[in-house]
Amino acid sequence: ADKLDYVKSKIGEYVDFPKKGIVFRDIFGALTDGKACVYLRDLLAHHIRITCPDVELIVGLDSRGFLFNLLLATELGTGCAAIRKKGKLAGEVVAVEYQLEYGSDTFELQRSAIKPGQRVVIVDDLLATGGSLLAATALVRKVGGVVLECLVVMELLGLEGRKKLDCNVHALIKY
Ligand code: 5GP
Repeated sequence: ADKLDYVKSKIGEYVDFPKKGIVFRDIFGALTDGKACVYLRDLLAHHIRITCPDVELIVGLDSRGFLFNLLLATELGTGCAAIRKKGKLAGEVVAVEYQLEYGSDTFELQRSAIKPGQRVVIVDDLLATGGSLLAATALVRKVGGVVLECLVVMELLGLEGRKKLDCNVHALIKY
């Protein structure tokens, strides 16, 4: 709990960013602090070791999820993979469209990134409406992966994003 409180104290809070009425939770505020980086890694890795000891692949979401997928993969001895915005990944990809506040966007995943039946944990910095993680779970399943859990550093409880998701969801910090 001390580690969690420490990390929480380092996360930035920006009112009216990127738009009026939004309180932006800034993970980068914590990552400039060496102790917070180590604690974040320890907290996330410890959680996965407890809940998903048989995980085989950590999948990160474009772009702040990439801060954690390789970090956790090296810590846990798994592989890692990237879900990216449309047009960035080479070779055969699967795609899923997801809703933004205004309009939509498309996430892609390389078909070769996941072997059928492989056990996956999906990571991102923050869960808001859940649209991003919903698309990510659909992509992982499309290529035959098994989603063990969606893991985020922060969750905005008021938006009820986890209700959209039909897998285990865990957040270190809830607002
Ligand atoms: P959702 O799809 O759940 O509505 O939004 C989650 C995505 O939006 C995440 O990839 C996250 O990085 C980004 N996001 C939305 N609000 C915030 C915020 O307040 N802080 C940060 N760091 N990311 C946010």
